[in-house]
Amino acid sequence: MRILHRAFSEADLVGGHWIADFINTAPGRDAEPREWLDGYGRLLEWAALTGVFSPASLAEAAALAQADPVEAEAALDRARALREALFVLFEAITRGAAPSEDALAALSAQWRWAVDLSRLRPEGGRLVRSVDDRSAGLDRITAAVALAAVDLLEHGPMERLKLCGGHDCAWLFLDTSKNGRRRWCSMATCGNSAKAKRHYRKRREEMAG
Ligand SMILES: [Zn+2]
Repeated sequence: MRILHRAFSEADLVGGHWIADFINTAPGRDAEPREWLDGYGRLLEWAALTGVFSPASLAEAAALAQADPVEAEAALDRARALREALFVLFEAITRGAAPSEDALAALSAQWRWAVDLSRLRPEGGRLVRSVDDRSAGLDRITAAVALAAVDLLEHGPMERLKLCGGHDCAWLFLDTSKNGRRRWCSMATCGNSAKAKRHYRKRREEMAG
């Protein structure tokens, strides 16, 4: 996977669910796979855009990474490993295929580990489960991803999960459109390029005819 150095923007988070967006941090799996998580800082940059993590928690993780860059790199590797297992599992679901045993075992292990790093706390008359930042340290994002991914796989709506039909994309997205007929990760990128290709093909046919 070719490592790219680029800043994340809102346009990179179009998966309809932040777990899909996390898996999409390695685009182009159908043609030229790219790694966008080129460092631990980039993972934090991505996490900030999701709105799932508090700025204070991310700032604390940044400080931990600065204090121990070697550990931060190892934590980044764990995040990437989880993402790879998730892609395999999610992609199979879009095809109605059985999950890979290896990917399932990898996610099971990371989910158990994430539960270990979590705690229950009271919130408005109920209990909520969340990753305990102090226990999770540099793995706070990865642990939260593991928990939320299992939650999504369990409760769905997985029948709305799709793989973008665009070339050199392979992004996953939850189709939340009313008619459930969305084909592209985004109309602005893959949708438009498909439209342009169709238009070009039509014109060529017209000229040939
Ligand atoms: Zn796409």
